Amino acid sequence: MRDNDCIFCKIAAGEIPSATLYEDDDFRVILDLGPASKGHALILPKEHFRNLYDIDDELAAKAMVLAKKMVKQMTDVLGCDGYNIVQNNEECAGQTVFHFHMHLIPRYKGDQVGLEWKVGELTDEVRDEILEKLK
Ligand code: AMP
Ligand code: ZN
Repeated sequence: MRDNDCIFCKIAAGEIPSATLYEDDDFRVILDLGPASKGHALILPKEHFRNLYDIDDELAAKAMVLAKKMVKQMTDVLGCDGYNIVQNNEECAGQTVFHFHMHLIPRYKGDQVGLEWKVGELTDEVRDEILEKLK
């Protein structure tokens, strides 16, 4: 399925040009136009899913396997020192394009990529509340 108003559907289908690092029947991997660091790439499924809440299980699993393959290959190509995999779901979490995608962000020692958060504290109350709700 595709969404005719979705830019990532068009990119994944090859209707809008992109710097494609990899392509197969299920995915296209492209360079992000607004990179957090040199080599920042996006894994796009060719099928349209809004985000992780909707994506097909089998495709989600394949996306992670592809992420591993790309990270290993691109670490050699870029000479980076590490990688972050980022995957945003819904606006409050930073999602701006509502077609599932995984960010592959190369990290270089001393880079200024900001993925940090303020470290909180897990209280007994919150821990117990969550564990109780999961029962
Ligand atoms: P997110 O905020 O997780 O939805 O990420 C969307 C990402 O898509 C951002 O990092 C943008 O820089 C990137 N982006 C948006 N449009 C394009 C495009 N046409 N080609 C490549 N990357 C894009
Ligand atoms: Zn789409």
